[in-house]
Amino acid sequence: MPSNGNRGHILMIPFPASGHLLPHMDLTHQLLLGGLTVTIMVTPKNLHYLNPLLSLHSSSNNLQTLVLPFPSHSSIPIGVENLQQLFISFAPDFVAALSKLHDPLFQWFQTHPSPPVAIISDMLLCSWTNRLASQLNIPNISFIVINAKAVASWWVNLQLLPECAIESPLTCMRSWGVIFNSFAELDSKSLKVLGEAFIKHDRIWSVGPLLPIKAISNGPNERGGQSSIPQDQVVAWLDSCPVENSVVYVGFGTQITLTKQQMKAVASALEESGVRFIWVVKDPMKGTLHHEADDQSVVPMGFEDRVAGRGLVINGWAPQLAILGHRAVGSYLTHCGWNSTLEAILAGVLLLAWPMQVDHFENTRLLVDELGVAIRVCEGLETVPDAMKLAWIFSESVGMARPERDRAKKLRESAFDAIKEGGSSFEALERLVEQLSS
Ligand code: UDP
Repeated sequence: MPSNGNRGHILMIPFPASGHLLPHMDLTHQLLLGGLTVTIMVTPKNLHYLNPLLSLHSSSNNLQTLVLPFPSHSSIPIGVENLQQLFISFAPDFVAALSKLHDPLFQWFQTHPSPPVAIISDMLLCSWTNRLASQLNIPNISFIVINAKAVASWWVNLQLLPECAIESPLTCMRSWGVIFNSFAELDSKSLKVLGEAFIKHDRIWSVGPLLPIKAISNGPNERGGQSSIPQDQVVAWLDSCPVENSVVYVGFGTQITLTKQQMKAVASALEESGVRFIWVVKDPMKGTLHHEADDQSVVPMGFEDRVAGRGLVINGWAPQLAILGHRAVGSYLTHCGWNSTLEAILAGVLLLAWPMQVDHFENTRLLVDELGVAIRVCEGLETVPDAMKLAWIFSESVGMARPERDRAKKLRESAFDAIKEGGSSFEALERLVEQLSS
């Protein structure tokens, strides 16, 4: 690795969406623990994602922030700086907008008294971060925040991808190094294919599952945002549920909102099943590409009164980690976003899979067909599940012994084995830190 005499200072450039920012924070935490110095670049409205990290590392000088204004773009509404406010189809516009930070970043490097010796940038940004790094004569490492199986299938089928989606898998392959938030025991086949057929060098590090930085308190230090029902109250409600593994958690991450019909089906299923539940209803997104704006996230009238005491509806942001980690939670109806999947694996919770878009389908194949740790519920962004069947799945998922739950517990053990001293991810992280310090 080229060195300019300033060893161990890294610039992190996350993509501004929760599913990308949060694992970047978790990786930064690990790099700081490894003794590296990290500068994280964000735009003003995403600065709050750093709060847990800043409060954890408040006594060290090794964590710096670089706040640059969000560059304007004709199709991104003014004031929007995070993809979770828009549909995922705006991702290429975000990449185009952020590429305008190339020149300010180049300038920043020129004037910094001890500039970073490497960049770690999100997989979606490599089209311009590889160029920036090569102009600075330093390496760019691509951080892949999705599952290796999904990446492998995209790389194998590049010709099947829409043109706007081809650039990022191609440029990731050309980065100096690649980091995966996964672990050998989970993804070894795909990691092997990627390494041998596409990346063709050994600077690949599988360091996952990255342990999420815990919310230190309610309020501004919460992971990803402030919960609309304070975390203490959510946990107190879960504490009041007497039976272990008896609560169903329903949440679809940060890029999915359900249509009225889907909301109705989920609500009837929860009502009919009689289970205890927590349901996170994401705020409607701006833009009207897939659904009409007023057709999203509508909780049916009277639902909350009818299930009062038995369930919690959280509108907006929920303390997902605290929920998944609680002993009362037994199953999770999920879109199978990779972060949520890893969080559920770490919690040993039974996954009820409803893959919606992009990598979710590959994640589901891995979880259901290969590992047998999840139950497939339905598939597709527009699909409306049968409420009666869903009710039955909900009640079975918490009421009966299931082989998937036993396998999920075993997978949890191998995840923890991978990240403990001597484990495959622990060692990969050590190698990465060593490489970046040398
Ligand atoms: N998340 C959360 N509260 C919410 C919604 C999401 O804490 O109300 C977190 C969740 O724990 C995960 C991330 O946001 O870490 C979502 O990432 P994922 O890859 O699962 O899905 P995406 O939102 O990218 O589709």
